[in-house]
Amino acid sequence: MDGIEGTLKTFSGTSVYDELKTILSYYTSIEHDFDDFTRAFSIHCPDVCGRCCQVFIPDVTYLEALAVAFHIVMVQGRDVSYLETWRDGHRSCPLYDEETHRCSAYAVRPIVCRVFGSAATATREGLSFGGCRLPVAPNDRIARIGHDELVSSGVRIPVMGDYGEAVDSMQRSSKRRLLDEAILDCAAKLIFMKRMVQESDDDPSSPLAS
Ligand code: SF4
Ligand code: SF4
Repeated sequence: MDGIEGTLKTFSGTSVYDELKTILSYYTSIEHDFDDFTRAFSIHCPDVCGRCCQVFIPDVTYLEALAVAFHIVMVQGRDVSYLETWRDGHRSCPLYDEETHRCSAYAVRPIVCRVFGSAATATREGLSFGGCRLPVAPNDRIARIGHDELVSSGVRIPVMGDYGEAVDSMQRSSKRRLLDEAILDCAAKLIFMKRMVQESDDDPSSPLAS
């Protein structure tokens, strides 16, 4: 997560700092689960695809939106005003880059983007992995993997649902909102907090002064 740690220090001593630390640390910790699983079973998306991002706007919790807003506004320095009217003319995710066919905030992508096509599903028959069901090129379609193969692999299998529940447990509310509107709210909060921190640096009597 290049550039994130340094920018995070801007918010040291605030509640936003603790919230960002919580979600960013969690993302770092779970990346091993997905890396080990996808490597062990040779699961990978085609080099250029992103069809999922072209037809989908994620629903996210507050912490997920905060991480995205922090990354695109504070680290990348992007103007997010385009999000105000995004859904008037788009079905795609507002973070999808049409030119590169990649996520423009991959390091902080929400949980649903991490588990889609990269986690197993718990069913009555046990675990299974169905891969991505979107119409990708036939040669790139990810094969179905059954319970026996999964559990005999000795690899820790990421199970869809577990990660969303874990994120829910980190915050007071598990309410989800569409990514565009959730980012706008969090971006406004971060910009306000940054101004408060800067003003407090000039005023040693401020409660935010370090
Ligand atoms: S293969 Fe599926 S999960 Fe991977 S980028 Fe394409 S549509 Fe998304
Ligand atoms: S956040 Fe990134 S990975 Fe998730 S849907 Fe949007 S562009 Fe795709």
